[in-house]
Amino acid sequence: MGRPRITVWNEYLHEVENPVVRAIYPDGIHTEVASAVAEHLDADIRTATLREPEHGLSQEVLDTTDVLFWWGHRAHAEVADEVVERVHRAVLEGMGLVVLHSGHVSKVFQRVLGTSGWLRWREADEKERLWNLEPSHPLLQGIPEQFELEQEEMYGERFDVPTPDELLMISWFQGGEVFRSLCTWRRGHGRVVYFRPGHEAYPTYRHPHVRRILANAAAYAARTVRIERTRPIQVEAFEPVPNPTKDHIG
Ligand code: ZN
Repeated sequence: MGRPRITVWNEYLHEVENPVVRAIYPDGIHTEVASAVAEHLDADIRTATLREPEHGLSQEVLDTTDVLFWWGHRAHAEVADEVVERVHRAVLEGMGLVVLHSGHVSKVFQRVLGTSGWLRWREADEKERLWNLEPSHPLLQGIPEQFELEQEEMYGERFDVPTPDELLMISWFQGGEVFRSLCTWRRGHGRVVYFRPGHEAYPTYRHPHVRRILANAAAYAARTVRIERTRPIQVEAFEPVPNPTKDHIG
């Protein structure tokens, strides 16, 4: 379908309010993710953020998006249910969705997968080692057998998601935990990817292998069909899935 059209969505609050995060990502995480994709993929790329009207995700934007990236953390509750519904329907109709890091408990990810997305977490400047389980998979082109991030937030199992269609990377952390850090699912006609690294306090999205995986994800998840909208999905007012473990958001 020609050059993929990518929309990178970011909550864009930490970078505005926290000088530490702003020093790492002065133009916002969305701009860094967009530049990573552009580095490896010939694509039309734009960004959208929470504070824009309709969070920058009007129907028109989604209708012209082949892959949507999602980074959110502290303001998941502020994302309008109407936009969540719109994104869900777009995925079922063929749009790709790449959910990053703390997006694991975003309304969009919970809605699309139907589970809470909860996990264990710890912020202790730990080393993360990511193991490449499927070197022949398009998402892992150009990625070695394993690579390390010197400092990251720890995410540990159990990660409350449906069993992935494809489990592509496992992370090991210095504290001993492991985590399913690169996973795919099909939902309707859309491809869904979850990629774990990307805590806002570390320059993770400047790491060359992370950047390559972001670009690979854009290429892999890009829409291959457009299914015409028939009727709305019958879902009553959406309530986010509660956290069964009382663990804190990661
Ligand atoms: Zn984090």
